[in-house]
Amino acid sequence: MTVEIPIPTDRPVRVRIAPSPTGEPHVGTAYIALFNKVFAEKNNGRFILRIEDTDQRRSTPESEQAILDSLRWLGLDWHEGPDIGGPYGPYRQSERTELYREHAKYLIDEGNAYYCFATSEELDEMRATAKEQGLRTAYDRRYRDLPREEVERRLAAGEPYVVRLKMPLSGTTRVTDGLRGDIDIDNAELDDQILLKSDGFPTYHLANVVDDRLMQITHVIRAEEWIPSTPKHVLLYQAFGWEPPVFIHMPLLRNNDKTKISKRKNPVSLEYYRTTGYLPEALVNFLARMGWSMPDESEKFEYREMLEHFDFGRMSLGGPIFDLDKLDWLNGMYIRELEPGDLVARLQGWLLGSGYLSAVAPLVRERIKRLGDFIPSTTFFFGGFDPLPAEALVPKGKERVEAYRALRAVTEAVDSMSTWDEATIEEALRAQVEATGFKVRDLFMMVRLAVTSQKATPPLFESMAVIGKARCQYRLREATNTLKP
Ligand code: GLU
Repeated sequence: MTVEIPIPTDRPVRVRIAPSPTGEPHVGTAYIALFNKVFAEKNNGRFILRIEDTDQRRSTPESEQAILDSLRWLGLDWHEGPDIGGPYGPYRQSERTELYREHAKYLIDEGNAYYCFATSEELDEMRATAKEQGLRTAYDRRYRDLPREEVERRLAAGEPYVVRLKMPLSGTTRVTDGLRGDIDIDNAELDDQILLKSDGFPTYHLANVVDDRLMQITHVIRAEEWIPSTPKHVLLYQAFGWEPPVFIHMPLLRNNDKTKISKRKNPVSLEYYRTTGYLPEALVNFLARMGWSMPDESEKFEYREMLEHFDFGRMSLGGPIFDLDKLDWLNGMYIRELEPGDLVARLQGWLLGSGYLSAVAPLVRERIKRLGDFIPSTTFFFGGFDPLPAEALVPKGKERVEAYRALRAVTEAVDSMSTWDEATIEEALRAQVEATGFKVRDLFMMVRLAVTSQKATPPLFESMAVIGKARCQYRLREATNTLKP
């Protein structure tokens, strides 16, 4: 495929990733970061990390920190970002809300956006009517042309409002994607999108466009799942009278069955890969091969070699399969190449360093007579882990399907936890005792067996806290799948 990505001649290439800190650091974020970084470096540009934390309810500082740590672990470091600053900061959207409000106000003053006072009942009613009449948009634009005095009156009365963009009522909007060419969207399919929410916070669309502009982003390289948002962004650039950046949408990573990568079928947390013992360079190599190839099609190459040969023309769009067997194979090759001294250093940098050992040691101190007992009594903290067969997991007197349902409920409860410490784990598991109707002893034993493969272990919640959420999730999911009738 010959692909010509336009490169500006009058200003530097600037690209960014813009993760939302709402959960575990995701492999997809690392994938997109890698291609942004290599493109920036190939073009002597800058790679920026921006935190999109406008969803106040779901964003957490722990998640932000985990994203930064994981990307650094992979060597995907950035030139500007919330932790290191830079000339276009702040790099965290929650610190930029005034800018978004000013920009929304500007659009209103220019006649390109408006205050919408629709109540949630009105919106429900509009949705129902749209459904009934088979309309493609759900909002009937009833506040779009409200007389000025009426708007003033409602604002003065303190009525809650959102700000919406006036979308064109007819015609098409063209999105040009660097890898896919032109995509034309019928404007009649687009609702008047919300720019500012009733809490005064911007939507993703407004904040994303304003920041890309103010941070002088030249190329937006992001996942395919954002294609439906892009026409909205293009219209927003037009409303501001700005030239949009070049858009490049990367193919979605897929599970073996071709569905979009999901934690149900693959571990997606970078924490899982780090704690399980993948080498960062192997994971980077693996991600680089997702849709991209070296001119000689070799499987094993380092970032440096990717950079040397990088060109979006070598990208193929058919959804790359995230195949863990292949990652294991690559990782094994990287490990075999390490000098013995390096291997020792890697082991110590992994879980055999004093940090992790200090968390494990107190848990087994009461249980060992000789230092040597430490090794057999702690294997599951490190990964020496043989999943048990279904018979071993089902509590006495229970049917396999009951055990399956109960463990699935536990797994889902663990998935939705946003803090991970002894107390929250205990709370979440106790809630599942009630929910499943299992006896405490039975349910906790099943979880213990799923997570450690052993009947006797140090206290369960503390052990899970130390093993970490990502590996517990993985082990629980594996055990649930084993029980599946
Ligand atoms: N905040 C979006 C995300 O979570 C950013 C998408 C984009 O790159 O525009 O991925």
